[in-house]
Amino acid sequence: MPPETLIDKLSAAHSLTLDEYAALIDSRTPELARELAHRAVEVRQSIYGTDVYVRGLIEISNICKNDCLYCGIRRSNRSCHRYRLTPEQILDCAKEGYALGFRTFVLQGGEDGYYTDPLLCVLIEKIKSACPGCAVTLSLGERSRESYQRLFDAGADRYLLRHETADPVHYAALHPPEMSFENRMRCLRDLREIGYQVGCGFMVGSPGQTSAQLAQDLKFIETFHPDMCGIGPFVPHHETPFRDKPGGTVELTCFLLSVIRLIHPPVLLPATTALGTIHPTGREQGILAGANVVMPNLSPVAVRGDYELYDNKICTGEESAQCRGCLEGRMESIGYRVVTHRGDVKRI
Ligand code: SAH
Repeated sequence: MPPETLIDKLSAAHSLTLDEYAALIDSRTPELARELAHRAVEVRQSIYGTDVYVRGLIEISNICKNDCLYCGIRRSNRSCHRYRLTPEQILDCAKEGYALGFRTFVLQGGEDGYYTDPLLCVLIEKIKSACPGCAVTLSLGERSRESYQRLFDAGADRYLLRHETADPVHYAALHPPEMSFENRMRCLRDLREIGYQVGCGFMVGSPGQTSAQLAQDLKFIETFHPDMCGIGPFVPHHETPFRDKPGGTVELTCFLLSVIRLIHPPVLLPATTALGTIHPTGREQGILAGANVVMPNLSPVAVRGDYELYDNKICTGEESAQCRGCLEGRMESIGYRVVTHRGDVKRI
């Protein structure tokens, strides 16, 4: 099937076969990317208009028991300066964000055993009562179903857990032997069943990734129907085994953003910090390809540089208000409008 016909099929059926997804990726040209982006923006416009949702990102800890081969805060990185925020510091970040208009807070961190269920439950309750009408999103990695349930019962609304890759063989190449694809998928299923708004996602251009594997990621998104989907380019970190591997591109990331928008029109799709890191207007390009979420940093400035998932990560020097203002300006420059309500997914 010629690529133009694949785009027609994707727009109409929100689905392609694995081979067709791979063929679409392999046959991409600037013209094809433009056509896809045009359709993706049209679809997003019909659901969300020109609204861009903001989430205040609070990076609560860079202490991690895992050793993911791509990640700068993996436990084997001895030169990483480690920190963890206390519940009081996290609550202060949320309150500061609330005063700036944020109505969603994303608590993200390494898998740090300090954050037990009782500690997190009290913290979630405090954030929810100090910030009426806000949504709390967690991005704290793999936990037991019971733990996810307790955090949900304490008031957490959403959970981001990128699946990283939908191919078990590629998963094993990116992670140490003690981590398993099956457990990652188990977590996503549990989160969904418990009632969270769930986000999955993957890195674009991770070492060894093929079009056939990306096709599996797209098929997974098509069948799982996540409420959110975080994709960003792989960016090498100098203290990881992947230090010399090439990074992902803006071009392929934007192409895939458009495809994902057409697969699942209401999905909340961030233009990620990683995309902004590899190109000065990466996030704007992401929005123009079909994304509709940005995530300014609300972490205390003193620790921002330490949450170094990859080299040259942006937004490490500014105050929260500046970060927010900067993104607002960037969105306005391309004709979009940052809105500050909770920004729940529209289930259509
Ligand atoms: N511990 C949490 C949060 C991980 S950090 C969890 O397991 O979900 C959030 C995301 O950053 C990861 O899911 C991964 O996709 C991305 N990431 C990590 N290292 C990266 C790198 N070198 N380049 C690009 N993205 C990276």
